[in-house]
Amino acid sequence: MAAKILDGKKISLEIIEELKKKSAGLAARLKRPPTLATVLVGDDPASQIYVRNKIQACREVGIQPVECRHPSSFAFQNLSQLLEQLSSDPRIDGILLQLPLPTGFPTESLLEKISPEKDVDGLTSENLGKFFSLRSLSKLPEAPVFVPCTPLGIWTLLKRTGVALPGARATVVGRSNIVGKPVALLLTLSDATVTLCHSKTVDLPNITSQADILIAATGRPRSITGEMVQSGAVVIDVGIHRDGSGSLCGDVAESVREKASWITPVPGGVGPMTVTMLLSNTLLAAQRRLGS
Ligand code: NDP
Repeated sequence: MAAKILDGKKISLEIIEELKKKSAGLAARLKRPPTLATVLVGDDPASQIYVRNKIQACREVGIQPVECRHPSSFAFQNLSQLLEQLSSDPRIDGILLQLPLPTGFPTESLLEKISPEKDVDGLTSENLGKFFSLRSLSKLPEAPVFVPCTPLGIWTLLKRTGVALPGARATVVGRSNIVGKPVALLLTLSDATVTLCHSKTVDLPNITSQADILIAATGRPRSITGEMVQSGAVVIDVGIHRDGSGSLCGDVAESVREKASWITPVPGGVGPMTVTMLLSNTLLAAQRRLGS
């Protein structure tokens, strides 16, 4: 039987209605709209689309986008200075540095120029460190931390769909700081038993086929196939790629649909949830500024 769809687009729209109200309330208290600065360097077509979508989504919930676009010839020192300026500008609540940066830019050290209080993507070492030191998700609402948007989106999608996490065997394939590691932590803190796999994992199909919940974040089109998946598993496909024929596909092959009980579509699964979590984190940043 074909899997049911874990509809990221529909759940995002529900959350966006909640965020619109929160944004209006914050705007009244701030006496200006909450503001997100988006920083895009270079002309990567996918990044341009992602930033355009994020800006459009900001407008939808009443967040004012401040767009900073620069060619790949923009000097590293100037980018560093821009991030510092935005960090100290009281009119800016959140900062998004769109990744990947063009070749040659030192991503890690540039991310550190973003003030942790405005790091709504949750990628500075201070945010990641505070997040990884959390002992319980019940501490999350008050913790001075932003959870990276894609993992937070995946976790929210599972929770809102009612997927039972405590005691579930969850396998995450991919160990990046942006997706794999933080999603493994969120699932661990939700009392799932988590296995984190990567390109050096021995006998990957044996591990993935024991998972009740399988998160595919390999960055390799259609690399998780039907025979690697347990019947009835919940499958989250994080990848988004354009294949040789021009159609969009994920990190999961079509054959997985026949095995899974639930699966995220590509597009319309993790992508919209990621954008919605960025909006949610931006409002959280604005709210914290008011509180401080
Ligand atoms: P990275 O390239 O940083 O990491 C990929 C991970 O997958 C690495 O840990 C790598 O292992 C592992 N891996 C690669 N090939 C295999 C394989 N054949 N078997 C097992 N493990 C493998 O990617 P990201 O984490 O940044 O992104 C992952 C995916 O998520 C991509 O498809 C990306 O496009 C997508 N993405 C989607 C977003 C959205 O909003 N929808 C947002 C962010 C990412 P190793 O560490 O050993 O190299």
